[in-house]
Amino acid sequence: MKALVYHGPGERGWDTVDDPTIIDPTDAIVRIDTSTICGSDLHILKGDVPETLPGTILGHEAVGTVMEVGAAVSTIAPGDRVLLSCVSACGRCRYCKEARYGQCLGGGGWIFGHTINGLQAELARVPFADNSTYKFPENLGDEQVLFLADILPTAFEVGVLNGTITPGDVVAIIGAGPVGLSAVLTAQLYTPGRIVSIDLADSRLESALVFGADITINNGREDPVALIMEMTDGLGVDVALEAVGVPQTFELAADLIRPGGRVANIGVHGHSATLHLEKLWTRDVTITTGLVDTFSIPQLMRLIVSGRLDPSRFATHRYPLDDTMGAYDTFADAANTGALKVVLEGSERHSSETQSAGALAVH
Ligand code: NAD
Ligand code: ZN
Repeated sequence: MKALVYHGPGERGWDTVDDPTIIDPTDAIVRIDTSTICGSDLHILKGDVPETLPGTILGHEAVGTVMEVGAAVSTIAPGDRVLLSCVSACGRCRYCKEARYGQCLGGGGWIFGHTINGLQAELARVPFADNSTYKFPENLGDEQVLFLADILPTAFEVGVLNGTITPGDVVAIIGAGPVGLSAVLTAQLYTPGRIVSIDLADSRLESALVFGADITINNGREDPVALIMEMTDGLGVDVALEAVGVPQTFELAADLIRPGGRVANIGVHGHSATLHLEKLWTRDVTITTGLVDTFSIPQLMRLIVSGRLDPSRFATHRYPLDDTMGAYDTFADAANTGALKVVLEGSERHSSETQSAGALAVH
């Protein structure tokens, strides 16, 4: 089969590799019908993720069709269409029993395209298949569910739920990439009073307005602290979500919240940030961190089925799976291409009328 293989920092190829086979009785083999690329894949390609070894197939978001199941798999069967989550779950360890699959101790967690072969390929081996795949209604197109693999549950669980957004809250969301925009989308499930989106890129802020933000601030030329204090009678926001992953934006989130407010950090950080306890210790603040668990996939799926959540507008570009190399070029140059999510289309993917109606470019 063909797959997108990481060959060490800066090097990738669309290579011919061996077809995957069942290794453990809990495995399934899934044909990838629709996949996509994540910012983390770019981090791996830069060499920032040393545990990903050269030779690994990248990708951790996909929709596919079950081709074969191991002897111990009982809830899916050949022919079933399934969503594959970025997080796998052994289902047996202490954390899996608390639905904290991201922390799985039994060999799960974020493994696809990280520590085992991933999903930008024609076929994939899916470990712990009963616990790590999600069937969905036949009438949904692949693109309607694809973004449940990572960005939507990440923003919802690590941002919206950890930040305990409640009706009427003023919410600042720093970063308007796919994760920040997913936070803009899912924060609205809790009817905040106002959503303020903060980013350095005007094109991303335009997208934030399309996804439902009320106010945008470009912190490259405007002062978000001054503007937000003015907007909130000098108090600050109820909830600040950090969806970038650099020290400045974590520190900005802490500067923006009111006494009693909440900072929910989503961004992946590679450097230390300063926690100004000398300013915060009297202010009754809550700061949370988290790795996505994807426990919310079934809940978010029901919202998509009922039409209350439509993530298909994240799909700004489409490429045949065979041209994954070109898709990476487009995604890596998001500043010029305006890419939010680039969809990789296998030759047998399943689309629907709803999908083609919903999947309009944001711009
Ligand atoms: P992205 O790189 O596509 O988007 C980041 C956005 O931040 C961009 O729009 C960029 O213009 C903006 N930005 C950069 N520097 C900024 C600054 N100083 N101030 C304001 N905006 C700034 O990333 P993404 O895919 O949307 O992911 C966001 C973060 O979430 C990343 O750090 C990613 O690794 C992380 N993430 C975390 C989890 C988790 O489980 N916690 C899961 C997935 C992704
Ligand atoms: Zn586990």
